[in-house]
Amino acid sequence: MSSLFVRTLREDPVDAEVPSHRLMVRAGYVRRAAPGIYTWLPLGLRVLRKVEGIVREEMDAIGAQELSFPALLPREPYEASNRWTTYGDGIFRLQDRKGGDYLLGPTHEEMFTLAVKDLYSSYKDLPVWLYQIQTKYRDEARPRAGVLRGREFIMKDSYSFDVTDEGLDRSYAAHRAAYVKTFDRLGFDYAIVKATSGAMGGSRSEEFLAKAEVGEDTYVRCTNCDYAANVEAVAVPTPAPVPYDDAPAAHAEQTPDTPTIATLVAHLDEAFPRDDRPWQAGDTLKNVLVVLKHPDGTREPLAIGLPGDREVDQKRLEGQLEPIEVEPMDEEELRKHPALVKGYIGPGALGEASASGIRYVVDPRVSEGTRWVTGADVQGSHVLDLVVGRDFTPDGTIEAAEVRDGDACPQCADGTLESARGIEMGHIFQLGRWFAEALDLRVLDENGKLVTVTMGSYGIGVTRAVAAIAEANHDELGLIWPREVAPAAVHVVATGKDAAVFEAATTLAEGLSARGVEVIYDDRPKVSPGVKFKDAELIGVPTIVTVGRGLVDGNVEVKDRRTGERTEVPVGEAVDHLVGVVRG
Ligand code: ATP
Ligand code: MG
Repeated sequence: MSSLFVRTLREDPVDAEVPSHRLMVRAGYVRRAAPGIYTWLPLGLRVLRKVEGIVREEMDAIGAQELSFPALLPREPYEASNRWTTYGDGIFRLQDRKGGDYLLGPTHEEMFTLAVKDLYSSYKDLPVWLYQIQTKYRDEARPRAGVLRGREFIMKDSYSFDVTDEGLDRSYAAHRAAYVKTFDRLGFDYAIVKATSGAMGGSRSEEFLAKAEVGEDTYVRCTNCDYAANVEAVAVPTPAPVPYDDAPAAHAEQTPDTPTIATLVAHLDEAFPRDDRPWQAGDTLKNVLVVLKHPDGTREPLAIGLPGDREVDQKRLEGQLEPIEVEPMDEEELRKHPALVKGYIGPGALGEASASGIRYVVDPRVSEGTRWVTGADVQGSHVLDLVVGRDFTPDGTIEAAEVRDGDACPQCADGTLESARGIEMGHIFQLGRWFAEALDLRVLDENGKLVTVTMGSYGIGVTRAVAAIAEANHDELGLIWPREVAPAAVHVVATGKDAAVFEAATTLAEGLSARGVEVIYDDRPKVSPGVKFKDAELIGVPTIVTVGRGLVDGNVEVKDRRTGERTEVPVGEAVDHLVGVVRG
């Protein structure tokens, strides 16, 4: 500790919102260089290397081969896949001195695809699984929580190349199994959830989410079956069509001063009471207008119809439309569509064939035969008994409504959904033939015919994993690293001024090192025991040994950082004892 390049802080950094970020800065693991860009100090780098090592071992164990692509990449391959455009503002783009366009790689599908195309040409060469552990750059809109969401970060990304769909299934299963082992070893409490596969299409897609309150992802689980999904990927089942032969004809009614769902429901109960029950927000069809921002900059209005008791979930909506971004439609934009009457917008003025020409998509619950109260496109008026399929036909459906606790499970008949939050640690998905087609990766099959290769893509956030581990393993005093990734196995603290104490502590530290145990030794001569203990607790090595007052009786004190349990051990047996503790 007298020479280690570290300065611990007693105060929380002002910009840190989550515990892992606060503690990693305070304990001297990372320092901010720019927003979302961090320097790894010696202690942090040790943890990072260990996490990386575990990821590498598990990838090697399934037979994936490591290589390394540059981070600085030419524009052309990303032009071929169109991601130079579709990635939008997320890419760092730059030019060389000759004016040539480059980017800092946000993810490397193109480069892997081209590498395989470069070297391989036959089905006999496949399958092949390739990976790298490498720095990625994304100009995130909201870098957050230190290295949890950085603009420069390390990702392990691997890609599988197969000729057949069955081959891809096998490659996917192998990666999934490797991820289970990896995240088990990293000590995560995690959920494997269905995910959306984003812009590139693809079929199977799952995320590994570390359970955490601070997580940016919300996922749901069924109370009855094994269904688990990121809310972005929850697909609400379309109800069976309801017969509407007996339904009354739609009728427009005066509903003055009812621009909100609550005022409308209150008015309905007063003016048009139902026999069976009071009106509910879910009986109304609410139409929300948004503007889609395409990656090439064009803007397109979109109307979303959903039951009035639900809000639009921005993340779910964007998940469906990726890489398009979504903004609410403001007053100015709304005024450009005179057919739309604010507060009273209904299906009559929506749809590609309508007066507004605005594409109109609805929640799956707004299904054939269902009956709604909705805007009549006239100030102060609503339509009742408007039937889907009879009175209007939307342009399509969209999964944009919020998912709520208690919603029916899309997979089983009996279960309901409950939600929790998590941090996306890993993402595996079957890309299929999208990139191979875009970049013309084809090989000869058994019959000498050229076939397009099918791919899988598998990522792990390595720097993010360090923060997520810290998030799951800390207390008010500091970090508490799991043994597999701790920066050292034992933290030896020498206290007092007695030369004999320092001699014994040095001997202990050296004895441990000689046995292959990684040690942090607090040999600082003029630092108080209180400060040394605080630092040891903050840094979070799993075992802390104090060599101090007890030495007169021939003992050192061994403390478990996680449980706080203390044991007196004779100094002569300390090395053996600690080797036992460390090796478990
Ligand atoms: P997110 O939804 O959190 O933005 P993503 O879905 O864009 O992540 P992928 O493209 O699937 O991320 O990348 C693979 C893995 O890389 C993610 O599962 C995550 O662990 C990690 N990762 C992605 N973006 C970041 C980032 N900005 N900082 C740190 N790690 C990241
Ligand atoms: Mg992802």
